[in-house]
Amino acid sequence: MSSNTKSAELAVTVSDTDLSEATTGILEQFPDDLDGDLPSVEEVASRLEKMTNQYKVPLDEARRAAVSHYRDVFGLEYDDLEFPGQSAGDVTLASINQHEQWVDVTVKIVELWDPTHDSIDQVGLIGDESGRLKFTKWTKAELPTLEEGSVYKLSNVITSEYQGRYSINLNSRSNIEPVDGDIDVRADIEDVQLSVPMVAIQSGSGLIKRCPDGDCTRVLQNGRCAEHGDVEGEFDLRIKAVFDDGETVQYAIFDREATEAIAGITLNEAIEQAMDALDTSVVEDALIDALVGRYYRVEGSIVGRYLLVNEAEQHG
Ligand SMILES: [Zn+2]
Repeated sequence: MSSNTKSAELAVTVSDTDLSEATTGILEQFPDDLDGDLPSVEEVASRLEKMTNQYKVPLDEARRAAVSHYRDVFGLEYDDLEFPGQSAGDVTLASINQHEQWVDVTVKIVELWDPTHDSIDQVGLIGDESGRLKFTKWTKAELPTLEEGSVYKLSNVITSEYQGRYSINLNSRSNIEPVDGDIDVRADIEDVQLSVPMVAIQSGSGLIKRCPDGDCTRVLQNGRCAEHGDVEGEFDLRIKAVFDDGETVQYAIFDREATEAIAGITLNEAIEQAMDALDTSVVEDALIDALVGRYYRVEGSIVGRYLLVNEAEQHG
């Protein structure tokens, strides 16, 4: 917790009345049949008092932090709380900069992805005029199905921050309302830095052939381009990696340059390996052996569901 000098000077001491009101509000959020004893009024009040008057955290933030703390202590999900936080109202996606804040957004469903777990009903990318964010709709919420390309008002959704990136969660407190019309979604590219383990390399990695027709560059399947048919392909190197630290799954693409750097192999060396083995898949297999299961610091741009890797280095 850091105290900000400027706000410390300006901060007004939070009164006992406000503290006790906030304390009651917090305790009321927890269900009666809690597994374990709720903290005492004094304990909660003293926690809030310390955060606000000693560390100069604004009362609203202190309240959120306290709820989050006790939620962790009792192993509760937000859905288990009796009274979720008040929605901050209509916001744009680009303005979202707080963890676990309830907000309303009007967005277009830009992309739907395949859920990676049964607990996730729908996952993908939403967008508005200000930007794009990932969203997750939990199965438990039993909410209506969102259609790709359609516009919705999503009310009482909760924000989440992870490694500096924000996303939106739809749970049983959330509402979905279809909206007529379209949204001109801002095509933004977000630069990120992650520190994550690589858990898989997907097929179609390693030594591939691309269509040489104009600027097609499609990856050939069995020597065929989906657009131009049988062509004499050009060799290229790439890695389609999956990073997963148990909380977030990030699909990533290493282009030739990034692949050469992380694997310590040049395109020509990869071609030689494949020629020796009379099989291009040896390159993919070697990459899997060398790279999967290790931690990386990765820098790149998020485009749609993919992180396009600029730089990556192994660590740990
Ligand atoms: Zn082609």
